[in-house]
Amino acid sequence: MPLNLDHLNPEQKAGATHLGGPLLVLAGAGTGKTRVITYRIAKLIEEGVPAERILAVTFTNKAADEMRRRIEELCPGKGALVWAHTFHAFCCRVLRQHHEALGLQKHFTIYDASDQKKLVTESMKELGLEEQTNKAPMYVSIISRAKDDLLDAQSYAIYAAAAVDSSRQVAARIYVAYQRKLEAAGALDFGDLLLKTCVLLKENQSVREYYQEYFLHLLVDEYQDTNHAQYVLTKTLAAKHRNICVVGDDDQSVYSWRGANIRNILEFERDFKDAKVVTLEQNYRSTPLILEAAHKVIRNNKSRKPKKLWTQKQGGDSIRVQELPNEMEEASWIVRRIEEQLSKGRSLKEISIFYRTNAQSRSFEEALRRAGYAYRIVGAMRFYERKEIKDLLCYARVVLNAADSTSLSRILNVPPRGIGKTSLERLENYAAANGLTLWNAFLEQEKIPNLTSSCRARVRELVALLEKLRAGVGGLSAGGAIARILEESGYWTWLENETETDPEAAGRLDNIQELLNAVREYEDKAKQKGQTIDLGTYLEEVSLQSDIDGLDPNQPAVTLMTVHLAKGLEYPIVFLTGLEEGLFPIGAGNSAPEELEEERRLCYVGITRAREMLYMTHAATRRIFGQVYANLPSRFILEAQLLSQAASSQAAAAPAPYSRAPRPEAPAGFRAPAAPAKSTGFKLGCRVRHPSFGLGQVMEMSGSGEALKVTVRFDDGRVTKLLVRYAPLERA
Ligand code: ATP
Ligand code: MG
Repeated sequence: MPLNLDHLNPEQKAGATHLGGPLLVLAGAGTGKTRVITYRIAKLIEEGVPAERILAVTFTNKAADEMRRRIEELCPGKGALVWAHTFHAFCCRVLRQHHEALGLQKHFTIYDASDQKKLVTESMKELGLEEQTNKAPMYVSIISRAKDDLLDAQSYAIYAAAAVDSSRQVAARIYVAYQRKLEAAGALDFGDLLLKTCVLLKENQSVREYYQEYFLHLLVDEYQDTNHAQYVLTKTLAAKHRNICVVGDDDQSVYSWRGANIRNILEFERDFKDAKVVTLEQNYRSTPLILEAAHKVIRNNKSRKPKKLWTQKQGGDSIRVQELPNEMEEASWIVRRIEEQLSKGRSLKEISIFYRTNAQSRSFEEALRRAGYAYRIVGAMRFYERKEIKDLLCYARVVLNAADSTSLSRILNVPPRGIGKTSLERLENYAAANGLTLWNAFLEQEKIPNLTSSCRARVRELVALLEKLRAGVGGLSAGGAIARILEESGYWTWLENETETDPEAAGRLDNIQELLNAVREYEDKAKQKGQTIDLGTYLEEVSLQSDIDGLDPNQPAVTLMTVHLAKGLEYPIVFLTGLEEGLFPIGAGNSAPEELEEERRLCYVGITRAREMLYMTHAATRRIFGQVYANLPSRFILEAQLLSQAASSQAAAAPAPYSRAPRPEAPAGFRAPAAPAKSTGFKLGCRVRHPSFGLGQVMEMSGSGEALKVTVRFDDGRVTKLLVRYAPLERA
């Protein structure tokens, strides 16, 4: 059956059917950019391009799966063939294939953020920077950003030497030590996956030419969030056929803190002078009111390509902005709105709650739990980061890669084997002094001074155990291998015994059971495609998972996530919460203009996820890490020209207290709810004029009569509290 392009508008069609050569689809949210990529791939396949010679890069594994699924629908039998991957997964595939060219071992381990932190901490100690190890996360991100910019340790050192800022020189030394350790462990961090692939393609002509020839078409979604390494990789791969299609929205670039460079998309036409540019303006996702609010916010950004979206949709509910006294009330208010929606026939899976920072999720969780509504948090503590799961995965890593000292030191004494801290230190010192991996130090334990004979015996036992496992897992599937590890390491028995004394042990056993189920499920899926999954493949799959990947949109539950993670997704009902100065935009008054613009883009992303209903909430006070802060409503609410319903009117209009979620008492010392002050004519949200400060908007009111005070945010950004009686303030 020929591909039906009737599901595309003329501009989308132009993108999908563009014959070849560079193509840029630059368009706002919800205009069908991702749809264009999918149809374009289907169209290429229909035109005879072999599916396996098309590379489609997406932002998450989940998006890649979704893309394959849609292609499969459009071109049966072809979905699985297309290389649809994230950048990292793609690089991993290439590096496994060509590991020898880079001197990597086949089963290189992929280190996650916590492994990175551990290695940076060790490197700092080695350099005599013990006192500063609390800064390890900062150095992890400096190193990661350097890799995003394709600066290896040596290049970074040269760059740092020229820098005035001495902390860069410290970072450079840490980077060198860290990289040495990483390499000795036969491990790659996330940045390395990209960096090493770029190095491979740059330095190895035959590999480069092979891939340049092989991929006939290259398509990249969410191109606005690519970093320099991804940019170079894309350009290199597309150099021969020049069939490169990038899709994105400069207004949705929200990952600059992770190295993304918005210039990549803005300068695509400079890089590819003959690029065809398609712009899409019709939005298919949201109601006109939602689009209007999104537009009013984003138009305040100076560095953007102007564009305005329109929709054929009509009507829709108005956007509701609500001020609440505090974060607990914010959560219970949302729960009441959810209840309302459910009574109108909506389902939980249609609802999503977004917040700026992970710490905000707790009050929503509590309120939802009290109300008995199912919810799921995306990107909270990942399953694979749990202690028992990570322990097991570290066993698996060591079995596959003995050089992985970080993982080996983790499992050395779990279950407890009587190899204590001091013994580990001696083993590690010996390894460091002799340029050995920890594993090799184990093998030479007889030569190490100061080890007790019982410790030596235990080290020998551990070596024997790991060698046995190594020999045993070869022919096993991933599930079989993990079961064998669990049994032979004594981990399972140990945890079982622990249940008598440790109340958490039972939960840990459940989690391990869940891990085994997950592996089996994954194996079954692969079996249907005629593939078998060995331990190495499984470890790689796990390492490359991103926060969003586990999200199952059909699960009957409210979804909670940060706005960052919501990029590319859509929900009928969205709660955008914590819209307060200082929180969203984060930092507010202290931010550089670029940072504020990024916060605004983030707000734009949040608003444009909503298909039908959008609620925006802000709390007058909020407890953050134990401290209570009084917050003004976010400037984004004002920019959207939406008036907040004050806490007081909400209280008056509130239905009978929600039966399952009683309203908590307001803490003492609460500021008086703002009340409209008719006598002066000032109202919350009204526009005012001041002879010296100019125009502004009333953000907050307190007191009454002679004591009436208003807090005004003037258009130049200044926020001032004024006693109305004395202030030369009038309504504008
Ligand atoms: P974002 O900027 O958020 O990534 P996008 O531009 O990639 O959005 P899509 O996710 O592809 O947009 O599409 C948004 C919604 O509009 C989806 O539900 C999609 O199915 C729908 N859609 C896109 N194009 C059309 C069309 N021509 N006809 C009907 N629905 C469409
Ligand atoms: Mg998209």
